Amino acid sequence: MKQELTFDTIILGSGPAGFSAAIYAARGNLKTAIIDINMFGGQPSNYLEIENYPGFSLIGGFELMEKFEEHCDKFGAEKFPMVEIEKITLTDKVKSIETNDTIFKANSIIIATGASAQKLNIKGEEEFKGRGVSYCAICDGAFYKDKVVAVVGGGNSALEEAIYLTKFAKKVFVIHRRDEFRADKIVQQRAKENEKIEFILNTVPVEIQGTNTVEQIILKNTKTDEQSTLVVNGVFPYIGFSPNISMFSGQLQQNAQGFIETDGNMQTSVEGVYAAGDVRNTPLRQVITAAADGAVAACNAVKYIEQIKELEKV
Ligand code: NAP
Repeated sequence: MKQELTFDTIILGSGPAGFSAAIYAARGNLKTAIIDINMFGGQPSNYLEIENYPGFSLIGGFELMEKFEEHCDKFGAEKFPMVEIEKITLTDKVKSIETNDTIFKANSIIIATGASAQKLNIKGEEEFKGRGVSYCAICDGAFYKDKVVAVVGGGNSALEEAIYLTKFAKKVFVIHRRDEFRADKIVQQRAKENEKIEFILNTVPVEIQGTNTVEQIILKNTKTDEQSTLVVNGVFPYIGFSPNISMFSGQLQQNAQGFIETDGNMQTSVEGVYAAGDVRNTPLRQVITAAADGAVAACNAVKYIEQIKELEKV
C-alpha cells in the first residue's frame, strides 16, 4: 500500500523556476512540496559563472542555486530530491505524482522541469558518450589537460564552455554551422580573443570516430558539402536544449518543439497546472526569466487554491 502525501501545490523541478515558485508558494501560505528526479539546483548548477543575475556581478552557478535553496528553506517548502517518479497525472482535478511507495497529491502543480542538452544525433555520439563525448565541460573538462577538444554550437553555452575548456585543453575548436553567433557579443569577444580557441565556421560534425575513446570527427562544410577530418580527443556538443516533458507528454498543450504553452499567468492548457522556466515556450531562457516565471506561476497557484478553499467552505 502506497503512502499518500497531500499538498496544496507541488513543484516539479528545482532550478531557478522551481525554487522561486517554492519560495512564493510557501510564503503565500500554500502547503508546498518541491520534487526533483535529480539533485536540487537544475541546469545553472553546472554553469561555471553567472554574471548577469542582478545583485551578483559574478557568482558560480552552483553557489547561486545553493542560495536559492537556502532562501526556499526559510519558508518551509517540503523538499524531495532524487525521486524516482513512475507516473504523473495532471488532467484530473486532484493531480498526482506516483513513486514506487508514495502518491503525492495536490490541486495544483507547477512544472519547472527545465530542459536537457540536445543531441547531435550523429553516428558515434551515443557510442562515445562518456568516452570523449561530454555535455558538461565543468564535470569533464579536467580530463582534457593538454588535449585537443571540439565544442559544437554558436550560443552562449558553446562559447562560454569553450573558454572554460581552455583552462585544461591545449586547443579548443569551436565548430559552428553558420558564420554568425547567437552568443552575447561580450562572450563572442572573449572567445575570439582567446588564443587557444580556433573557429571552424559553416561546418557541422557528421560522425564521431575512435577506438576506445574519441580520436577524430568528420566535418561537413554547410556551404560546399565538402568533408574533412579533425583530430580531437573530446567533443562537447552545446547545441541548445529540449524540454524535459517525457513524463507527462501529451497531457498539456505543447509547441512543435515540445515546449509547454502557457499564458502570461504561466497557466497551461490544464486548469491548476502551471509551467515556468525553460520548459515552457518562452523567448528568453535565463536564470532571471525562469525565476520570474516561477514567481508568477506560484502567485496564480495561490489564487487558484484560495478559490478552491472558498468553494469548499460553501
Ligand atoms: P542556443 O542559444 O539555442 O544556441 C544553440 C546553438 O547551437 C546555436 O548556435 C545553433 O546554431 C546551434 N545548433 C542548434 N542545433 C544544431 C545542430 N543540430 N547542429 C549544429 N549546431 C546546432 O543554446 P545555448 O547556448 O545552450 O543557450 C540556451 C539559453 O541559455 C540561451 O538563452 C542562453 O543565452 C542561455 N545561457 C545563458 C548563460 C549565462 O547567462 N551565463 C550561459 C549559457 C546559456 P544557430 O545559431 O545556427 O541556430
